[in-house]
Amino acid sequence: MSDCIFCKIVNKQIPSKIVYEDEKVVAFDDINPKAPIHILVIPKKHIPTIIDCGEEDYAIISHIYKIINKIAKEKGIAERGFRIVTNCNAEAGQTVFHIHFHIFGGRLMHWPPG
Ligand code: AMP
Ligand code: ZN
Repeated sequence: MSDCIFCKIVNKQIPSKIVYEDEKVVAFDDINPKAPIHILVIPKKHIPTIIDCGEEDYAIISHIYKIINKIAKEKGIAERGFRIVTNCNAEAGQTVFHIHFHIFGGRLMHWPPG
């Protein structure tokens, strides 16, 4: 999608600090980190929200969890603990309408989230 900021990251039209990439997904540092480690994992396919997933998209979501596992181990937060967050639509505070999985780590996480 031409006006989507995360599609622009996928297409390298705007810079990002990529930590992982394959044919299906990209992971990059969040530009405004809320934790010492704050990485976003996104499908290369433009899917606006988790509610917009079709049957054919769930394989990508599963793959994203595999990549989150890999990144968490590489960043040294797998054993300490970390949090995965996907905001969906207005009341959850979603601001970028291209599905993304936040990985937060490197500090104590509070519960419940705000
Ligand atoms: P959400 O509020 O769940 O939609 O999260 C969107 C996230 O995208 C926020 O944490 C932003 O800081 C992050 N973000 C927005 N633009 C960029 C960008 N160009 N590069 C990296 N992260 C971004
Ligand atoms: Zn997009």
